Amino acid sequence: MTTASRRTFAIISHPDAGKTTLTEKLLLEGGAIHLAGEVKARGANRRARSDWMKIEQQRGISVTSSVMTFERADRDGNVIMFNLLDTPGHEDFSEDTYRTLTAVDSAVMVIDAAKGIEPQTRKLFEVCRLRNVPIITFVNKVDREGRDPFALLDEVADALALDVCPMNWPVGMGGQFEGIFDFATGTLRQPSGPSKEYEGKSATFSGLDDPKLADAISAEGLARLREEGELAQAGYEPFDLAAYRHGDLTPVFFGSALKLFGVTELIDAISAHAPPPREQPAEPAPISPDRSDVTGFIFKVQANMDPQHRDRIAFMRLCSGKFRRGMKLTPSGTGKPIAVHSPILFFAQDRELADEAFPGDIIGIPNHGTLRVGDTLSEKADVRITGLPNFAPEILRRVALRDPTKTKQLRKALDDLSEEGVIQVFYPEIGSQSIIGVVGQLQLDVLISRLEAEYKVEAVLEASPFDTARWLTGSEAALRNFADYNRGNLAKDRDGNPVYMAKSAWDVGYQQDKNPDLTFSATKER
Ligand code: GDP
Repeated sequence: MTTASRRTFAIISHPDAGKTTLTEKLLLEGGAIHLAGEVKARGANRRARSDWMKIEQQRGISVTSSVMTFERADRDGNVIMFNLLDTPGHEDFSEDTYRTLTAVDSAVMVIDAAKGIEPQTRKLFEVCRLRNVPIITFVNKVDREGRDPFALLDEVADALALDVCPMNWPVGMGGQFEGIFDFATGTLRQPSGPSKEYEGKSATFSGLDDPKLADAISAEGLARLREEGELAQAGYEPFDLAAYRHGDLTPVFFGSALKLFGVTELIDAISAHAPPPREQPAEPAPISPDRSDVTGFIFKVQANMDPQHRDRIAFMRLCSGKFRRGMKLTPSGTGKPIAVHSPILFFAQDRELADEAFPGDIIGIPNHGTLRVGDTLSEKADVRITGLPNFAPEILRRVALRDPTKTKQLRKALDDLSEEGVIQVFYPEIGSQSIIGVVGQLQLDVLISRLEAEYKVEAVLEASPFDTARWLTGSEAALRNFADYNRGNLAKDRDGNPVYMAKSAWDVGYQQDKNPDLTFSATKER
């Protein structure tokens, strides 16, 4: 099996839209699990793993991304290998999510039919757009009362400035729900049994005007399906593969993850249309998946899978070449080759040792802190994959020690945790107290609890005099000139890059106007 048969994707959604349920059903479809409910049940097994994961359980949210790999045949019988990267859905903790999106080739956007586009959906969508990640939309929960399908389609089109193409249509919603009609195949799938799930009751028709449809659904349902279905097909863009792959058009599937409607159509669409591994932005030149030597990049590091050991798992997205167990790769961070003896592949919940892997696959590499988020790993050490963003933190805090003799430990801990991507750390030019930055409140709790549990450092977070930060770029002279007047607002990030610490967004705008030869960026590409 090679590159063409791989689909590496993520599901993006606002909390509660149904991402977990859809993930379970996709894994079930792919035969990776046999019992629904197992995805969430995983939480119970994690209990012993570490203290900071307690936060995850207390808040009932998933802080860590994971990878699920499963196989399924497409409509022509070719086996497709799916790598589904799970993204933490909570509003608070999104930097991890953003980075995960750099490792996928496409995304599925789940929308609650009663709620439409929600804030988190929009934020994640913007990240996909930055990278032209193509999106298939799944409008979930049509088994319940939802908003009018046309209103939902128009909202996606208007809010996200995308062309939309309805691929199937719900016959009523909520109490009136009688099934889903697939435009391409003419297949009507219908609920049956006491729970009104999709249990295989389906029939294929020649089209919306097939008279036999009258035997399958109520007269009222049929009249509505014909009228709405025709309008839907005439009123929106036809499906265009190039436009979808370019991120300009989204095919839209209506469905119910809970009742298994639309799930088969969705997975067939991912097989048929979603792009196989794409070219990766890199210096000195983009990396084609056809390149023969191995390259990849670390998009996530997860520590403490086992609290007995200081082990970390670095998640690498393979971009080119055929990876073999035991091969030597050079991380761009240290420049020292490492032998990858025990790589991990992620078959649903089980972790398996990987003997080989192909572009698009995700490999877990156990290490003791040598691998950092953003590192390129390569056989020849001649490339650097770009485009993995750091986001300007939205919350800044000053870190104060309860025991001032622990300065060294604190510095080590902050460096480690910023390498993992849990926090960002800034060292002000004036003063000795480090400032940490996070994108969401939850990261602060994770920070404090890990400082205590792993580094035995008791720290408190104090208000920071600054509200936001921007990475500075420009000529050396311009930077020096700026520093002369603004030393009190300057800091260095962990890589030594200059950062402007601002009291407000207004200050950023003001300085930007005053210093047109400097760039103030809210993201830093590593
Ligand atoms: P997540 O937060 O996006 O992972 O959402 P979940 O998958 O946990 O779903 C949130 C809630 O919506 C749960 O109570 C699900 O049972 C429910 N849910 C998910 N999909 C559907 C659906 O298709 N129909 C209905 N009626 N409920 C659903």
